[in-house]
Amino acid sequence: MNYFFTGIGVSLIALLFASGCTQEQKEPKAIFRSKADERVPASAQANKVYPVYPWNDSDSPLKAITKEFLRCKGSSLNPPYIIYENGKEKDRIWDCGGFERHGLPVRNGQEYIYPVLLELLNFVQSSLQKRVIVTSGHRCPSHEQYIDEKHKTASTKHLIGGAVSFFIEGYETQMDKVVQEIIRYYALNPLFSGKKEYVEFSRNPTSDTQTAAWANKEVLVKVYLPNEGRNLDNRHPFPYLDIQVRFDRELNKPVACLWQDAQTYLRK
Ligand SMILES: [Zn+2]
Repeated sequence: MNYFFTGIGVSLIALLFASGCTQEQKEPKAIFRSKADERVPASAQANKVYPVYPWNDSDSPLKAITKEFLRCKGSSLNPPYIIYENGKEKDRIWDCGGFERHGLPVRNGQEYIYPVLLELLNFVQSSLQKRVIVTSGHRCPSHEQYIDEKHKTASTKHLIGGAVSFFIEGYETQMDKVVQEIIRYYALNPLFSGKKEYVEFSRNPTSDTQTAAWANKEVLVKVYLPNEGRNLDNRHPFPYLDIQVRFDRELNKPVACLWQDAQTYLRK
């Protein structure tokens, strides 16, 4: 598929180059960029202003982790995921339009990521003095389906801004130390003083990791080894952590996520 697209790209460039040399006085022809099942003239994209990268806002090597880092990592440039049945193509699943086309989940009229996720990422980054690399934050329904079609009818808290996958530069082989920092966040925070359900973590076996997960009342922390939990967002060779929010302190109730609760939050 990649070769196919590359071939078209090269042909298109060659064609443009040729037409530029020989037909300078003619009206420029519309250039179309293939996008899912629609076609968008290249001219419509030309003046688009892209947001700055979230890590461009200061000179410090460690940037505060904001919700910007957790935007859906889908892209309309990704090729379709093709499902075959009996050797024949049955269906094509396309990725979403990425952060340009939709925002984060919305709560009380504002884009929302569970605050504890950002607090934990910033605490870990600050205490280890190494950069947090967020590999998967919010996943809109289209992107979730694209990266893992088995989740079609299941639920993941990535859909509602209640989960994050990440690793720490330099700690790729020391995931236990990162987990210990997460536990330390609860031990040091006066908010949880004397609250055993937050300070004490239990170990829970999981169906998709060799390593038992760590859990307190608020979060579940899983470690994925290099041969586990790979999807399009996590196609790097490193082990990574996934934090899911289990309990919503603000609403004082457990966090549940059903597929039908997730929406594609279009940008205004
Ligand atoms: Zn998306």
